[in-house]
Amino acid sequence: MSLDKSRELYQKARNLLPGGVSSPVRAIKPYPFYTRSANGSKITDIDGNEYIDFCLAYGPNILGHAHPQVKEAINSQLEKGWLYGTPTEAEVDLADRIAGMYPSIDMLRFVSTGTEATMSALRAARGFTGKNKFIKIEGGFHGAHDAVLVKAGSGATTLGKPDSLGIPEDFTKHTLQVPFNDIEALTDMIEKYSDDLAAFILEPVMGNIGPVLPEEGYLKEVRKVTEENDVVLIFDEVITGFRLAMGGAQEYYGVTPDMTTLGKIVGGGMPIGVFGGKKEIIEMVAPSGSVYQAGTFSGSPTSVAAGLAVLDVLEKENVHKKLDETGNKVRSALTDIVSDLNLDYTVSGISSMFKIFFGDKPLDYQDVLKCDKEGYVKFFYKMLDSGIFIPPSQFETNFLSTAHTEEDIEKVLEAYRTNLR
Ligand SMILES: *Cc1c(COP(=O)(O)O)cnc(C)c1O
Repeated sequence: MSLDKSRELYQKARNLLPGGVSSPVRAIKPYPFYTRSANGSKITDIDGNEYIDFCLAYGPNILGHAHPQVKEAINSQLEKGWLYGTPTEAEVDLADRIAGMYPSIDMLRFVSTGTEATMSALRAARGFTGKNKFIKIEGGFHGAHDAVLVKAGSGATTLGKPDSLGIPEDFTKHTLQVPFNDIEALTDMIEKYSDDLAAFILEPVMGNIGPVLPEEGYLKEVRKVTEENDVVLIFDEVITGFRLAMGGAQEYYGVTPDMTTLGKIVGGGMPIGVFGGKKEIIEMVAPSGSVYQAGTFSGSPTSVAAGLAVLDVLEKENVHKKLDETGNKVRSALTDIVSDLNLDYTVSGISSMFKIFFGDKPLDYQDVLKCDKEGYVKFFYKMLDSGIFIPPSQFETNFLSTAHTEEDIEKVLEAYRTNLR
């Protein structure tokens, strides 16, 4: 497999783009492959190597790449112009459909990324409650804005320290953290800071360290304790929304938060974010209320058109049932492989998300940190050599799409068996 063109391009790119990339996770060492095109389940680099893609842009492409119906929707929007700076009928339609599927969403605002969605959701929750602090989960990822870029601290009582240069500690002093799957830590934290606590934000299934699943009953307990203490519960469903079910993890687990953030899938591969929730909270957002939020590209017509097309396909083709079945098949085959090879590894996942942890079953971030991260990276390169593109990190989820064929699945399982050995 030659990667000459990618290597050459990287030499140029790294002088122009930090790390040669536009987002850190893409910076595969010693250099990433640069993509020429992608279609269905396949992604092709500029040297002409083709990989079966289980990364799928880190989540959005649940129908695979360049799905014809989504492409058609985007093309037909392009004919009519692609940015107006005015409201459109299509955005009202998409809002109506989302609100109909997510029990927590009466009203919503469209934004352009998941980062913007969580940033604005937290602002709205703070505006609504008049309080400053919020709790997040250690290792939970909510995009790259100041308040949420706080690493797993040295314990549940530590106040947030920024995870990046350029963020004043003052900006994260209201960010509190608890471990996932630990209702006691959450209850204690809420009690301790209830005077000034606006919200609790979490990924109902932790997608950015794994996936790590909620333990039986955890989300219901979370709902109960936040409700009793008037803490706004925000589900960050940027990954799980339209992935676990049309109504996301809240439908899947039957737990309704006060607010929800969406992104990734709902833009059909075009940039999008959504934050929504109870009417009394979202009505606080400008111009109907005094929580300011705005964006040139918000409700972008191409993103909305692509989003409507994705929802059509997901609904009509009963996609989640099929993906659940494929996911179960893959996870059970991987479990067999791990056991055949006598490895102390753990197969994790739900619906169309799957992953092998190189270690014991994790319940939270600290557990995931104990996995063999270097071993995982070596494994990643072997998979790439076998023509399989999985995310290059122990902390990212593999995704299945409707575009993966039975042959793709057989190939990936074969590659897992060979390369794990
Ligand atoms: C990807 C992601 C975000 C950030 O979305 P962007 O569109 O990359 O800004 C936020 N929350 C979760 C759970 C995500 O997976």
